[in-house]
Amino acid sequence: MKAEEIVRELGVERKVLLNPGPATTTATVKLAQICPDICPREKEFGQVMKDIQKDLVKIVHGDPDKYTAVLFCGSGTINIDACINSLLPEGGKVLVINNGAYSERATEICEFYGLPYRELRFAPDCQPDLDEIDKALAEDPSIKLVHIAHHETGTGLLNPIREIGAIVHKHDAIFTVDTTSTYAMRPIDIEKDNIDFCMASAQKGIMSMSGLSFTVGNRNIIEASKDYPKRSYYCNLWLQYDYFERTGQMHFTPPVQTIYATRQALKEYWAEGEEAKWARHTRVFDAITEGLERLGFRQFIDKDLRAGLVAAAIYPDDPAWDFNKVHDYCYERGFTIYPGKVEGMGMFRLCALGAIDEPDIKDFFKVFEEALAECGVTVPVKY
Ligand SMILES: *Cc1c(COP(=O)(O)O)cnc(C)c1O
Repeated sequence: MKAEEIVRELGVERKVLLNPGPATTTATVKLAQICPDICPREKEFGQVMKDIQKDLVKIVHGDPDKYTAVLFCGSGTINIDACINSLLPEGGKVLVINNGAYSERATEICEFYGLPYRELRFAPDCQPDLDEIDKALAEDPSIKLVHIAHHETGTGLLNPIREIGAIVHKHDAIFTVDTTSTYAMRPIDIEKDNIDFCMASAQKGIMSMSGLSFTVGNRNIIEASKDYPKRSYYCNLWLQYDYFERTGQMHFTPPVQTIYATRQALKEYWAEGEEAKWARHTRVFDAITEGLERLGFRQFIDKDLRAGLVAAAIYPDDPAWDFNKVHDYCYERGFTIYPGKVEGMGMFRLCALGAIDEPDIKDFFKVFEEALAECGVTVPVKY
């Protein structure tokens, strides 16, 4: 029996998730979670993790001698936490380039650990000003780590990381980039893009299950951080790296079934190929944009600044519009849409992540249009 049939036989319906992760998974990835029980301290399991670790570096075209992947059991935020709390030397300061809710998370982490930081704020629909970044770093040589989100998942804005990374390196700081919502979708070259550390969780670009997160980064910098202050017991990058190097095991219990699903998802990643996969996400995103435009919806981010993965549509100026009603109508028919993430602005998001393709978007818009009609929203929508 084919995997799709088995899954259907089990009564598991296929859902189209248009939220920004966890994403729609294939039947084969779902089934990969059903595996013999195994103690994760067994060598056999360690080998599965080592193979995954190699693939994770390869996805961003990293030289395996120079870069490694550190795995954690947790959601994507654990990577931001681990990078910031582990990679700042004594007396150093963090610079957070903040133009959205995800880079904002890094400032919250600095606050929680009581780390010295400076924040450069930019409007959520604008790319950061490179001169200001250069100036901030020139003014303050105590800045040792610069953090930004590659793609602000809350709005769909793409940040120019390669250009920013060049500035960061000119000033001898470490560049950590939250690539959670681009990794394994929008092609990344860790070295050419001037990234020291990037990160993601298995349920987004890789299209696996939630519970596994990873940071891909420069081995020498991790080694050097051995002597930096240890600010967390559970999520310190060097401790987790060192334990795995010595033992081939995660320090604490890994998400075993998610790791088997991830092994399968990676197999499917290579089979699809980087270019073809990005072309598929682009096709999905274009279909989303086209559908929104046809109905008159405006997007929050200008066309040339979009990462091509998340469309943030502004609520129409129509008293009949009711996000929750539209959501529920679509949800009951197998499609999940998601609210926006900019304070004080009514928006909803449609995302191009996951194992979906253009026909899914066509099917979605049929249902979405019915939902608008059901609510009595005038189409094309008004502003
Ligand atoms: C999804 C995501 C995260 C992780 O969020 P969790 O709630 O921890 O899964 C972090 N950064 C970005 C840019 C994301 O899209």
